[in-house]
Amino acid sequence: MYYFYKNEFVHKQDIQISPDDRGYYFGDGIYEVFRVYNGQIYEGAAHIQRLERTASEVRLQLPYSNEEIIDIINRLIQGNNLVEGTVYMQITRGEAPRAHPFPTQAEPIVLAYCTEVKRPLTTIQNGIQAITQPDIRWLRCDLKTLNLLPNVLAKQTALDHGVQEVILHREGTVTECSASNLMIIKDDVLYTHPANHLILHGITRAVVLRLAHALHIQVKEEPFTTNQLLQADEVFITGTTVEITSILRIDGQVIGTGTPGPTTQRLKAEFEKTFLQ
Ligand code: PLP
Repeated sequence: MYYFYKNEFVHKQDIQISPDDRGYYFGDGIYEVFRVYNGQIYEGAAHIQRLERTASEVRLQLPYSNEEIIDIINRLIQGNNLVEGTVYMQITRGEAPRAHPFPTQAEPIVLAYCTEVKRPLTTIQNGIQAITQPDIRWLRCDLKTLNLLPNVLAKQTALDHGVQEVILHREGTVTECSASNLMIIKDDVLYTHPANHLILHGITRAVVLRLAHALHIQVKEEPFTTNQLLQADEVFITGTTVEITSILRIDGQVIGTGTPGPTTQRLKAEFEKTFLQ
């Protein structure tokens, strides 16, 4: 596998990372995860747009144009013969002695590499279980920054409880999950938290909402409570690697019939058509 680091394609063992990289001291950086199906970047333009927005909101100057970023990703895909997997890209604010203010000299540092990851077909087909937890993150969850400690803690809490995902809520209002967005179906209506500062504006979320409109499923982007969550007919998560995965049990309580629901199955079938050849 070869990587991209500081303007060069290099082998992983040849990368030397400075302890002064602000990514280490402050989590002062941003990232994106691109999905690759059949050797092609999936929804590349949407990911780049989100990267640009996050960069601008945290006042970090992207060192490359959109075309150059796409070119780096494509060269990683081709150079590593990647057919199915992900490309991770992070940009930190650069290297400088530890001090909070933006450094005046530092150049942003780009790290990118690809990983072979197969579609998680077992969980996509069979669903997963989740627990609910308070959402203790900051108030800019719409930004894809390196500060993921609350997400890491939430995910580990799920694993400690023997389930796969955590559903986060702010004083009873469901936001999203530790690494995915959440949708519920109740009486044939799809509900999901509005794309504001409290959730990441998922690329998969946007694709699924487009598909729901095309299937004439009524969509309400409005907040709902943990009680409504538990009373839902169907619950599922969306994300670049999890795609559309049903949640069948929450805090030990069975959701709906306890099997992936019919509306979720329709959306999954349509979703697959967007990348399967
Ligand atoms: N919400 C959070 C907190 C995430 O970390 C992610 C993805 O990693 C998502 C939602 C889903 O976003 P996307 O569909 O763009 O992968």
